[in-house]
Amino acid sequence: MEIFHISAECYPMAKVGGLADVVGALPKYQKSAGHDVRVVVPCYDTKFRSENDFECVHWGTVKLGNFNFPFSVLKETTDKLGYELYLIEINELFNRPNVYGYEDDIERFLSFQIATLDWIIARNGIPNIINCHDHHTAVIPFLFQFAYKYETLKEVKTVLTIHNGLYQGWFGFDKLYYLPEFDLRHIGFLEWNNSINSLAVGIKCANAVTTVSPSYLNEINYSANGLEELFKSVRNKSIGILNGIDFEVWDPSKDEGIASNYSIENFQVGKQKNKEKLCEQFELDSSKPLFSFIGRLFEEKGGDLLPQASALALSENFEDINILILGSGNAEIEKQLQQLRDDYKGNYNVFIGYNEDLAHLIYAGSDFILMPSRVEPCGLNQMYALRYGTVPIVRRTGGLRDTVIDFGDDGNGICHDQASVGDICYSINRAVGLFADKESFNKIIKKGMTTDHSWEKACEEYIKIYNLIIQQNEI
Ligand code: ADP
Repeated sequence: MEIFHISAECYPMAKVGGLADVVGALPKYQKSAGHDVRVVVPCYDTKFRSENDFECVHWGTVKLGNFNFPFSVLKETTDKLGYELYLIEINELFNRPNVYGYEDDIERFLSFQIATLDWIIARNGIPNIINCHDHHTAVIPFLFQFAYKYETLKEVKTVLTIHNGLYQGWFGFDKLYYLPEFDLRHIGFLEWNNSINSLAVGIKCANAVTTVSPSYLNEINYSANGLEELFKSVRNKSIGILNGIDFEVWDPSKDEGIASNYSIENFQVGKQKNKEKLCEQFELDSSKPLFSFIGRLFEEKGGDLLPQASALALSENFEDINILILGSGNAEIEKQLQQLRDDYKGNYNVFIGYNEDLAHLIYAGSDFILMPSRVEPCGLNQMYALRYGTVPIVRRTGGLRDTVIDFGDDGNGICHDQASVGDICYSINRAVGLFADKESFNKIIKKGMTTDHSWEKACEEYIKIYNLIIQQNEI
């Protein structure tokens, strides 16, 4: 089957979060299962773009209302990623260092979607499946069905995968003229609360909707930033498929970014070496348990709780623990986290920014990973942590609920129910006790390292959904 994944992010071309990891891995596993898989992302000004070779396979002009943007389709020449990677180059809109956060993001991602479809229709052959990811590509299922110029693509089946339902890509009807001419009888598919809501458009028009964990699918029925009723109404074409992790990128026995490779056979020695390197770099004491956080510093991740929870945990357990934070996001949270450095020197440190190599070293060298998320559609950090023998401390929500079980219930981690400073500190105290009981601690680590979160199973589930919508138009 010929499958296209269309996304704003794809590791290693452009990564902001988990979306990139999924779009960089799932296609590879679908390709090894015998399918013909292509990934299409915008051509940002990233390191991967400048360090790799591309050939131009198509060019044209994308029309966005009165604007005309020249675009090219660039194909990565070696196929070394395990699938064909295509970049939509629209210099005026995407030749910038960041993926998101510009005033013209609506124009950027609408142009990206239209240019992609213009290219697909100009190619020989019609794909079987278009898998769109998040709101940046969610208008595509509508365009396929109702835009006159894509009429010959009407039969292509579309899947919308929701990695994060909080972000929805709203824009006003004053920008309706950006869309290619379509059958106006279907304008209702665009509308949600008097605006055009890209995510809602995709949810209504795609043949199937997937979320990145089964628990998240249940949660969005009552908490989805205004789309709860819509999610309920499409329940019959929705399914939650838990993400996998890419074992080729995330393997402590082969990871070139860490100080010492290790496996389940020698994790104690291996992890200690990584911890020493990390502690040396951040002036921490490697004999104490190390609690780390990696992620976007926003409320949805519980980032706002971190300064207070760190201060409280450190003052309660001073002498006993280290805390290390890697992340960026809300400026106020960043400032508060930086201020703690002076008060807890030697026990606490923070790196504000994005650093992929450091993230790998932190997974390898930490004892515990903190994930106090308010919302976590799947969450990959806990799965990387488990694989690297680092015990996750999570709030029970979304994919965290599906992947981490409390050690009190014979599980692989530490769980709490509230996104609160009190619950985080209570879990840290339990972790300090566990760390002191080496036999139990090592047993839990081993359990985590052998948990199978490979992509194979998830890949099969996606293919099953694709087959169902190809055969029956629905799931
Ligand atoms: P989300 O996509 O909501 O941000 P996920 O848990 O699904 O969260 O994925 C986060 C991914 O981004 C992981 O691969 C994590 O290691 C990575 N990551 C997040 N913040 C940083 C950072 N500051 N530096 C390096 N990697 C980061």
